[in-house]
Amino acid sequence: MDPRAEPVLEVADLITGYGQIEVIHGISLRLLPHRLTAIVGANGAGKTTLMLALARLLPVRSGTIRLAGRDVTGAPSHAVVRAGLALVPEGRRMLATMTVAENLAVAAHASPAASAASVDAMYARFPILAERKDVTAGSLSGGEQQMLAIARALVQRPRALLLDEPSMGLSPKLVETIFAIIAAERANGTAILLVEQNARQALAIADDAHVLDRGRITLSGTGSELAARDDVVTAYLGGPAAS
Ligand code: ATP
Repeated sequence: MDPRAEPVLEVADLITGYGQIEVIHGISLRLLPHRLTAIVGANGAGKTTLMLALARLLPVRSGTIRLAGRDVTGAPSHAVVRAGLALVPEGRRMLATMTVAENLAVAAHASPAASAASVDAMYARFPILAERKDVTAGSLSGGEQQMLAIARALVQRPRALLLDEPSMGLSPKLVETIFAIIAAERANGTAILLVEQNARQALAIADDAHVLDRGRITLSGTGSELAARDDVVTAYLGGPAAS
């Protein structure tokens, strides 16, 4: 919780987009160990684009990304995975024709921090995946697929975990489970960046939070500071809470 701790991920003046289309117009942020940073914003604000650039799946036009003190701005995605960054992508991208066990093995193989013990730890944390070890990922339910997507990231024992809409399309009970897993991962010391349509829940769990509006951070504060602002409530939280 020490804000003076060395940032795990430090982004400065990041500009990125698709070909000629600039989507992120100069973003700076820091992810610290034991802290969760939430980003809220309307559809199309650029949340996924930011995540893809940080995971080095999109070219950076300018600015810098530092991971554990090392400049990884131009590094390929496999190198940032090896250096401790894991992304849970929107839409649960995974290897649909491979089994649960194979998906975890492939993910574990990509990170030197992973081991057979970290695969076993995932089965302990997600018992449903242990039960479905030999089932192909494509035939899992939506909730199980999201568990596998998160397990694939956690098995790599990341220092920085990026989660793009992890609760999308899940039942309230599963959303609760996923948020509990995210909180446990933070308690382990992982620095977390969370993008969520479910902004109320994201701000409730966040230590730090930013509003992303058309590719720019327009507001920053603690999760509770942002959740208490009328303009944020109106724009992103669907009006005042029912309580
Ligand atoms: P959502 O919540 O809808 O996923 P988002 O905040 O994640 O929204 P992005 O998906 O990052 O937003 O999209 C930001 C902008 O980039 C949008 O204007 C979108 O049309 C554009 N965009 C996204 N993907 C591409 C692409 N492959 N090529 C060109 N433009 C794209």
